[in-house]
Amino acid sequence: MANWTELSAHELAEKIQAGEVTSREITQAFLDKIAETDGDIGAFLHIGAEEALQVADEVDAQVAAGEKPASPLAGVPLALKDLFVTTDAPTTAASKMLEGYMSPYDATIVTKIREAKIPILGKTNLDEFAMGSSTENSAYKITRNPHDLERTPGGSGGGTAAALAANQAPLGIGTDTGGSIRQPASLTGTVGVKPTYGAVSRYGMIANASSLDQCGPCANSVLDAALLHEAIAGHDEYDATSVDRPVSSVVEAAKQGASGDLSGVKVGRVKQFGGEGTQSGVVEAIDAAFAQLEKQGAEIVEVDCPNFEHVMGAYYIIQTSEVSSNLARFDGMRYGQRKGEGSAEEVMARTRGEGFGDEVKRRIILGTYALSVGYYDAYYLQAQRIRTLVAQDFQKAFDQVDVIAGPATPTTAFKLGDKVDDPLAMYNFDLFTLPLNLAGLPGMSVPAGTASDTGLPVGLQLIAPAFADERLYRVGAAFEAGRA
Ligand code: GLN
Repeated sequence: MANWTELSAHELAEKIQAGEVTSREITQAFLDKIAETDGDIGAFLHIGAEEALQVADEVDAQVAAGEKPASPLAGVPLALKDLFVTTDAPTTAASKMLEGYMSPYDATIVTKIREAKIPILGKTNLDEFAMGSSTENSAYKITRNPHDLERTPGGSGGGTAAALAANQAPLGIGTDTGGSIRQPASLTGTVGVKPTYGAVSRYGMIANASSLDQCGPCANSVLDAALLHEAIAGHDEYDATSVDRPVSSVVEAAKQGASGDLSGVKVGRVKQFGGEGTQSGVVEAIDAAFAQLEKQGAEIVEVDCPNFEHVMGAYYIIQTSEVSSNLARFDGMRYGQRKGEGSAEEVMARTRGEGFGDEVKRRIILGTYALSVGYYDAYYLQAQRIRTLVAQDFQKAFDQVDVIAGPATPTTAFKLGDKVDDPLAMYNFDLFTLPLNLAGLPGMSVPAGTASDTGLPVGLQLIAPAFADERLYRVGAAFEAGRA
């Protein structure tokens, strides 16, 4: 028997369509792999074997009947971050607040995944409500990095990234408010893409910070991510911030990039990224990545983004402010488990006290403070001004270059337990991924080898202007081809 779990999604899709293997066989192979390895890794909160196999059988029947495939990824299974509501599986956001919650409707991207006949293997672990950088804030379990089980796979989307790295799934979905797709991709040596804000529907994705949240594809190759990107993107009238524009031709761009030729492409290197505080093995790997891009024909240009210095403060004011508002609905009356009895206030206090974990409470308190009368101007308004300045820094940079490249994270995967009691250290880990979310830009983390000092994966982050997502895929695929 072939080792199906080691093939990429596009290879699996071809083999299913050619009748060389059934989707059932492939889906079962991944389910077996999960059963065999997830006791150690802890990537999944819920496994939907029966539902996945049913979709696989539908694909196999279509192939047998010689019908056109429902999509280019028909029959290739996927791991879904447990932040999207689904009608056939519980949705928890890794919070006790939503334990056992069954949604009456599917998120828009889930509907699209079902229409594309992509079997959903299960729902993956995350930091509670996607707040964190290590997946240790989950109320249910920690997830371990398949490259070293003592280390974090990153967060908040550690479950999806670990599932990909452990070959438990060939495709995955993540969400990125401040880096939760790119950062775990970087730490696990997988590909993760945050599309342009508004390019993929947020409807049915449990809100963290609505002006920053964006879901996107995760995979083991750039082409696989592109195929999934096209399957989930597009305008959605149920999401007021969804943009009504044609979906970027990212598959085409990934195929074009596979030639490895980058002549004529200008790649920016941010002066403020990768200096003090960045692990030397990461600096080395990123230097080598720039050397490779240059060898492939790209021109490297230094770009100055002075306002990135303030990104951390601005993000954690805006994110917490939006969280304090978005999570108000989990009060045991409108949403969430109801705890205790007595007055409405008593019930709400007990529900929220018991239902939320420490990090979520910390953010709600910070955000409530930042938005309160007397502090609003000093914090929230100021943070919004910085947000504008960061977007302007990017605009100026993109007057000079086609894409920006740099490290996705300051270090390789850190040890579980290392930062969980030190929120500031945890927040600092997001430094390189946050600016994009403030500006709404698309970004990708693509594997750039391992750091010589730790032997762990390093991710090269690529950044493009809004609605130019295809540039990420062209350059990402070229870089991937250049490394092979
Ligand atoms: N680590 C960041 C935070 O905790 C980003 C999280 C995310 O992108 N969902 O806010």
